[in-house]
Amino acid sequence: MNTPSHVVVNLFLLGKEDSSKFYLPIIIGSLLPDIAIFWFYFWAKFIAKIPSSKIWSEVYFTDFWQNIFAVPNSIILCLIGVMICHYYGLTWLEIMLISMIIHCLFDLPVHHDDAHRHFVPLTNYRFISPFSYWDIRHHAKWIALIELLLVNISSFSLFNQFDTWWSRGLILFNLTVYIILYWRFYLPYFFS
Ligand SMILES: [Zn+2]
Repeated sequence: MNTPSHVVVNLFLLGKEDSSKFYLPIIIGSLLPDIAIFWFYFWAKFIAKIPSSKIWSEVYFTDFWQNIFAVPNSIILCLIGVMICHYYGLTWLEIMLISMIIHCLFDLPVHHDDAHRHFVPLTNYRFISPFSYWDIRHHAKWIALIELLLVNISSFSLFNQFDTWWSRGLILFNLTVYIILYWRFYLPYFFS
């Protein structure tokens, strides 16, 4: 899924009103699996100055970068982390790692040829899903619609839960962007 969806959905699933001190680890955990990919893009585009066409088709798939992406996307490594943190009573870190696992579980069914190795170091297996959250050749118009619905449901619940003007504004802004992007990029495929 798209990164902002993970933040909204994870907050909806894990963040209860009486546990506001855990909002931060939930948010960080929902971002971590994608952060290496953002760094990669920043490095490739602005530091290494690699042409955009090569970034996603070649460099992204090199072993070096794939190994870096695999670590925060590993359900196995996060599970081991959860057990260690649980044992030592490190609740904050435990919640962050659970949030990372939920991120991975939502990614697993919607990545086609960009699938992550979610079971490293046990196996390098990639689940090549018939569905993609972005690739129109793999049902993205439907998957993005489901993602939009999930973001909608989560956003309305979070809107009631959060009471500061800026958090509510951010939730509404994010939802509006999702609706506009869906309208612009995926809706036309229903009529073509
Ligand atoms: Zn992801």
